[in-house]
Amino acid sequence: MNAPVDINKASAKFLQVTAEHLAVYMEACVRCGLCAEVCHFHQASGDPRHTPAYKLVPMTKAYRRQSGPFAWLGLAPKLTEKDLTEWEELLFDTCNMCGRCTIVCPMGIDIASMTAAARQAFVAAGLGPEDLEQSAQNSLDHGSPLGLTVDKLEERIDWLADDYEVDIPLDKGKAEVLLTISSIEMMKYPDSVVAMAKLFNAAGVDWTFSTKGYEATNFGYLAGRADIAKAMVERIVAAAEETGAKTVVIPECGHAYGVLRWGGGNIHGKPLPFEVWHITEYLAKLKREGKLKFKPIDGKVTYHDPCQVSRRGGAKDDARYLLESFKEFREMEPTGNYNWCCGGGGGVQAIQRSAEIRYKVFRIKMDQVEKAGADALVSSCANCRLTMDESKAHWKWDHDLVSIVEALADAIDGPAAAKD
Ligand code: SF4
Ligand code: SF4
Repeated sequence: MNAPVDINKASAKFLQVTAEHLAVYMEACVRCGLCAEVCHFHQASGDPRHTPAYKLVPMTKAYRRQSGPFAWLGLAPKLTEKDLTEWEELLFDTCNMCGRCTIVCPMGIDIASMTAAARQAFVAAGLGPEDLEQSAQNSLDHGSPLGLTVDKLEERIDWLADDYEVDIPLDKGKAEVLLTISSIEMMKYPDSVVAMAKLFNAAGVDWTFSTKGYEATNFGYLAGRADIAKAMVERIVAAAEETGAKTVVIPECGHAYGVLRWGGGNIHGKPLPFEVWHITEYLAKLKREGKLKFKPIDGKVTYHDPCQVSRRGGAKDDARYLLESFKEFREMEPTGNYNWCCGGGGGVQAIQRSAEIRYKVFRIKMDQVEKAGADALVSSCANCRLTMDESKAHWKWDHDLVSIVEALADAIDGPAAAKD
């Protein structure tokens, strides 16, 4: 951003977003350094500035100066422009809000939520990566970060329905389930949209997409734009209310699930009028109910847990229930709640200048997959997939990346519901 850095606005925003629990975190850090070893950015770079606790210095500084227990003495150092410009990159480019540091922190400090709050202050000061900000602005102005406007959505759904001969209901009227889309899928991996439609049709789900609220990703949240975060949530609420859907399913996208499932009520200002399910949770439910059955799937595969679905979302076991269809599934070490992030979560994938550090981070994943003896890496997040696809190309790595939804749609056992 080219606007002058406004320290006062940043300080005021830091305080505005410092809810009670965040203030407790800032007082609680005992500087033990345990979080350093588990952050993949620190692991990949060896740079001490990538220690999770260090990333929070400006927020702590603003808090101590203005509202900490001894703020009245006026002795705590002031936040400076240098602080903000130096930490901008640390908070935007080298934190995926993955929550891995929190699971080892003896004080239970939630660095991810502190990063999200700090980003709002940086944006208030006129800082933040332009490309991430643009993704958020595109979402507000055009419906999605990647140019998936309503017209384009209609056009692409028509095309996919014709080409793949599958029903893809859009604005069907009333439906029990509202399915949402990550525009990363629609623009880069459209087969996963077809796969979701095939699976839902095969299970007899009464579902629809809606032009009123289709984009699942929430770049407003990632970019520190609370206004856009709210607008995106409200679109889905409006779409669900119009269709009467009491269930909203988030597609293969980690942060979209985290933001709506765990933060949606707060952003909306009251409880959401529907349940939020990640696609893996919903497919597992359909499988448990006997509405979906799968043929065995070939290939030695392992699973990349998207941080916001597994560690922060609590849905790691449903994915594994679905992964039982793979004849040769093997776990990586570590896995599940302790899994390493792909490097692109928290909006980092959208920040061009972060490419080099993302590639370095991905080497951890490559090593894990190779040690597990797997030929392919399955995931349930299009953002992870895009991050890993780019990093894979950078290293000329020869392993496959597989969408769990696409693999399962190809293995449906029994005839899919006929096209009208
Ligand atoms: S949330 Fe993840 S990326 Fe951010 S500091 Fe913690 S471990 Fe590192
Ligand atoms: S592990 Fe927790 S208490 Fe220790 S330095 Fe990191 S944030 Fe502070």
